[in-house]
Amino acid sequence: MTMKTLSRQRTFTHFSHKNKPAYTIELGERSLFETHDCYGGRITEETILRTDLDLTGKINLATGPIYINGVQPGDVLCIEVGKIELNEFGVMVMMPGLGPLGDQIENTTTKVLPIKENVIHFTDTIHIPVQPMIGVIGVAPAEGSVQNETPGDHGGNLDTKEITTGNKVYLPVHHNGGLLGLGDMHAAMGDGELDGTGVEVAGAVHLTVTKAANWDIESPVVETNESYLILCSGTKYDETIKRALNMSVQHIQRRLAVGFDDAYRLLSATCDLKISQIVNPLITVKISIPKTLIPKLF
Ligand code: CA
Ligand code: CA
Repeated sequence: MTMKTLSRQRTFTHFSHKNKPAYTIELGERSLFETHDCYGGRITEETILRTDLDLTGKINLATGPIYINGVQPGDVLCIEVGKIELNEFGVMVMMPGLGPLGDQIENTTTKVLPIKENVIHFTDTIHIPVQPMIGVIGVAPAEGSVQNETPGDHGGNLDTKEITTGNKVYLPVHHNGGLLGLGDMHAAMGDGELDGTGVEVAGAVHLTVTKAANWDIESPVVETNESYLILCSGTKYDETIKRALNMSVQHIQRRLAVGFDDAYRLLSATCDLKISQIVNPLITVKISIPKTLIPKLF
């Protein structure tokens, strides 16, 4: 089967069912999706500062929307992430107020970081291994429109480092064709996205989109070799964690045919609470359910 390339020329700023599709793909078709970095490629040198750019309504441009033939409300997409190709440099901005320690930043600066042979050259002597990931990936939400900066049950700015090569992202579909979009790749990012940015980078990613038969989820799930990550985004830690825990317990109850109490015990004995990011308009947490407990979520 030939591979389709979807260029980064067609982008959007809000996930919405009102967006007109830019591309159409078929289920099971291997496609290469080009993406901008979160600044739309406008920061190319260290003299260009984040504060120089008016990015109002332009940050985190997502390639798409992509209409997937044969996809309907109630379906769940399975997006297999293949090889990720990165641009030859990444960007990390800094400015007063950025991230949780932003009150300690006095100057606005930009670092442009060369990427060579899977290594990010932070300085001549400090090198970081490339761990590419997709920051923004989602479908049109059930209702209204959600700006690309914000994560949610539709996906969006999940900034989850496991959304990478070899893993699968599952998203519940609310509108015909799904209206998939993605962008905001990072060459590296730790859990939390602790200063507010990853190593922001343009690139291209090979994806194969299929339907996950018989799946029933209300928010994104990421499958790795070892586990299923139940993702949940919200305004407050306690409420967001509680909702993610409830969804995870329900999976354990259903899959293992146990009551609430035992599912709650098994959750505590085997599952990990992790943080995807704490810097977006909503935080994103993830509960990791090991495949040793549940080999197949559905
Ligand atoms: Ca992001
Ligand atoms: Ca980003």
